[in-house]
Amino acid sequence: MSREIAINLVYIVAAILFIFGLKMLGRQASARRGNTISAIGMLLAVVATLLDHHVVNYTWITVGLVVGTAIGVFCARVVKMTSMPEMVALLNGFGGLASLLVGWAEYGKIRAYGWERYLSEFAGNPVFTSVVIALTVLIGGITFTGSMYAFAKLAEWLSGKPRLFRGQQLVNFALCGLGLAGSVVFALSGDPAVAQLAFFVVLAVALILGWTLVMPIGGGDMPVVISLLNSLSGLAACAAGFVIANNVLVVAGCLVGTSGVILTVIMCKAMNRSLVSVLSSGFGSGVVAASAASGDVIQGELKPLSPEDAFAVLEAARQVVFIPGYGMAVSQAQHVVRELAEKLEENGAEVRFAIHPVAGRMPGHMNVLLAEANVPYEQLVEMDAINPMMPTMDVAIVIGANDVVNPAAARDKSSPIYGMPIIRAHEARTVICLKRGKGAGFSGIENHLFLMPNSRMLYGDAKASLQAVIAEFKSLNAA
Ligand code: NAP
Repeated sequence: MSREIAINLVYIVAAILFIFGLKMLGRQASARRGNTISAIGMLLAVVATLLDHHVVNYTWITVGLVVGTAIGVFCARVVKMTSMPEMVALLNGFGGLASLLVGWAEYGKIRAYGWERYLSEFAGNPVFTSVVIALTVLIGGITFTGSMYAFAKLAEWLSGKPRLFRGQQLVNFALCGLGLAGSVVFALSGDPAVAQLAFFVVLAVALILGWTLVMPIGGGDMPVVISLLNSLSGLAACAAGFVIANNVLVVAGCLVGTSGVILTVIMCKAMNRSLVSVLSSGFGSGVVAASAASGDVIQGELKPLSPEDAFAVLEAARQVVFIPGYGMAVSQAQHVVRELAEKLEENGAEVRFAIHPVAGRMPGHMNVLLAEANVPYEQLVEMDAINPMMPTMDVAIVIGANDVVNPAAARDKSSPIYGMPIIRAHEARTVICLKRGKGAGFSGIENHLFLMPNSRMLYGDAKASLQAVIAEFKSLNAA
C-alpha cells in the first residue's frame, strides 16, 4: 500500500471520528466523550498529514507546534469561563486567518514557479485552483476581521451597540460585488500582473468587509453573527483544503461550516429574525429615538428586597423557576444556585430552570454552567416549554438575566428588540431579580420588568445574594 493511500485511509477514519464526535456533542450525557473522540480524530489527521511527502520543512511546523501548544495550554488554564465567548471569537478569527495565509502562500508558490511548473508538480486546473484561492482569501479575510470586531464587542472594548453610517448597506453591497469581481478577474485573467492586482483587491476587500459587516450588528443579534462567523471559518478551511488538495481539511471544514449554518438558523429562529434582517438592520440602534417617538415612557419604581425578605417569599413558594442569564456567569453563581434549588426542594418546592437560547454570551452558555454545577438535566426547561407554565409559578428568580426577560420584546412595537422571544418572567406571581445595580443588558436598553408591581430587586453580586438567602434556609433548619 502506497503512503498516499495509507494517509487517505487514516483521513477517512479521522472524518468518521469527527462525525461521531459531533453527533455525541448533541447530548449533554455524551458530550465529553464526543469531544475526546473528535480530538482523537484530529490527532490522527495531524499525524497522517505530517507523514505526507509534500511536507518539505519540519522546522517551522515544530516552531508552530511548540508556540501553539504553549498558548493553548496557557489559555486553557488562565481564561475564565466568562471569557469563553471572546475566546471562541478569537479562535474563529485565527481559523479564518490561517486559511487566508494558506491561500496566499499557495498563490505565492504559483507566482514563484509559474503555472507550468506548478501544474507539473501539483497537478490540478489553473481556473479551479485560482477560484479556490480567491474564495479562501475572501472568506478567510472576512472571518478574521469580523471575528476580531466581534471579540472587541464581547470583551466590551467596543460598545455592544450597533455602529451605523449613512449608506452602510450600499457600501457593504459594493464591497461584496468588488470582492466577487476581483475573484473572477483573478481566476480568469491570463496576465500575471492583472491577477496580482486582483488578488490584493480581493484581500483588501475581504479584510474591510469583515469589519463593516459586523459593525451594524449589535445587542441581541450578536449570537447569530458569532455562529455565522464560526460557520465561515469552517468554509474558509474547506476552501483551503481544496487549495492544497487535502481531503481531511475539506471534510473538517465542511463539518464546521454546515454545523455553523445549522446553529445560525437555530439562533435566528430563537431571535425570531431572518439572517438578512440581522445582517442589515442594525439591531439596538436608535433606542432613544424609537421610545421617544412612540411616547413609551417606562413607569414604576424599583423595589429593593433584602435576603431575609427573599427567604420569606421563597419559603412559602411551591413552584419556583430560576431564570439564569449572563450575570450568573459573571458571578460564577451556578454552584450556589444549585444549592439554593436543593434547599427549596427540601422545603417541598418544585424547582425548574428556564433556559433561553441566547442567554449569556455563547450558545448553550447556561446549559454548560448548570451542567458544571451538576444541576439535573431534567430540571432544565426550554423557553417554549416553560412559558405556558409561567402564570403557575409562585416565584421566578431572575439571576443576572436582562434582555432575555425584557417584556418590551413582546409588546413594545417601538422597541428595537420587538419580536425577540423572551422568557415571560413577568407572568410569575412574584419575580425576584438579582443584579448589582441599574446596569442594562447586552443590548443596552431599559427593562420594564424590574419596575413591574410583582418585581422585587435583590441587589448585589448574584453569588453573594444567593449565599445570604441560603444562610437563612440553614438557620431555619438549625432552629
Ligand atoms: P444581559 O442582557 O447581558 O444582562 C446581564 C445582566 O446581568 C446585566 O443587566 C447586569 O446588571 C447583570 N449582572 C452582571 N454581573 C452580575 C453579577 N455579578 N451579579 C448579578 N448580576 C450581574 O444577559 P442575558 O439576559 O443573559 O442576555 C444575553 C444577551 O447577550 C442578549 O442580548 C443576547 O442576544 C446577547 N448575546 C448572546 C450571545 C449568546 O450566544 N448567548 C452571544 C452574544 C451576545 P448589573 O450590571 O446591574 O449587575
